[in-house]
Amino acid sequence: MIPAPFSYQRAATVDEALALVSEYGDEAKFLAGGHSLLPLMKLRLAQPEVLVDLAPLRELSYIRDAAGHIAIGALTRHHDVQHSALLAQAVPLLAHAAGQVGDPQIRHRGTLGGSLAHGDPASDLPAVILALDAVMVARGPAGEREIAAADFFQGLFETALEPDELLVEVRVPKPAEAGWSFQKFTKRAIDWAIVGVAVQGSAVALVNMASTPVRAAGVEGALAAGAAPRDAAAHAADGTSPVEDINATPAYREHLARILTGRALAEAAGRAG
Ligand SMILES: Cc1cc2nc3c(=O)[nH]c(=O)nc-3n(C[C@H](O)[C@H](O)[C@H](O)COP(=O)(O)OP(=O)(O)OC[C@H]3O[C@@H](n4cnc5c(N)ncnc54)[C@H](O)[C@@H]3O)c2cc1C
Repeated sequence: MIPAPFSYQRAATVDEALALVSEYGDEAKFLAGGHSLLPLMKLRLAQPEVLVDLAPLRELSYIRDAAGHIAIGALTRHHDVQHSALLAQAVPLLAHAAGQVGDPQIRHRGTLGGSLAHGDPASDLPAVILALDAVMVARGPAGEREIAAADFFQGLFETALEPDELLVEVRVPKPAEAGWSFQKFTKRAIDWAIVGVAVQGSAVALVNMASTPVRAAGVEGALAAGAAPRDAAAHAADGTSPVEDINATPAYREHLARILTGRALAEAAGRAG
């Protein structure tokens, strides 16, 4: 449980963070809240030679109304997303789901950007961001670029970010369709989801049903064709590839996806009035 030796650099500005990562190349990693990276380092599943600490970059911690979307700085902590009055009014799905991440200690350290950049399909917020059709803003040596959520999650712990790119902002469109729900099935209150479902209007995304968060295309297609929510939910596992692990078999995860999607669609319909 002791990490391999590494050196530690504190970045005072975004430009300095980018310069440090460029200087050290593949051996360097950004450190945000540390609540995913440090456990991996303790298990020696990650062994970066240099950590570039982003903690001083408080200018990347904000939640702002930007007309058509809400702009959220990548270093905004889960606690601040959970308790944002702006998000509670404009995108309550995201505020609510942030409150389901781990426990208060984790929510006070972990960041939205860290959760997305980590690319863990069992994390809550990547699926929520996918259901909301958010856009990620990455800054690197070549400048800034936007990446749609649908293109961002590329594989297990793999995203569209280049190693020398920093995720700086998440742009969350104000939902066009009302009604939302986040359902998470766990053994204990603070655990990662065995399966989770995020619904915003008729958009449905799944946690832990493949190597990335995925949209439940079968459900969305059935809803678009006029199916009742209950019948549409029967398609929740279509096209998914859930893993077998200590918590669940693939068949059990498929069952959970159908049940949780049914509950989520019913709750979303109730909220939409
Ligand atoms: C006990 C425990 C329980 C947890 N339970 C849950 C849970 O129920 N649900 C859930 O969703 N999550 C859970 N988490 C994970 C938690 O949400 C983490 O905070 C989050 O996944 C990572 O955010 P971080 O800021 O800590 O990132 P870090 O650990 O600092 O970084 C994670 C990865 O992202 C990279 N990175 C970080 N920020 C950026 C950036 N701005 N640009 C580019 N790359 C970046 C890092 O280099 C690293 O590779 C849990 C964690 C623990 C320890």
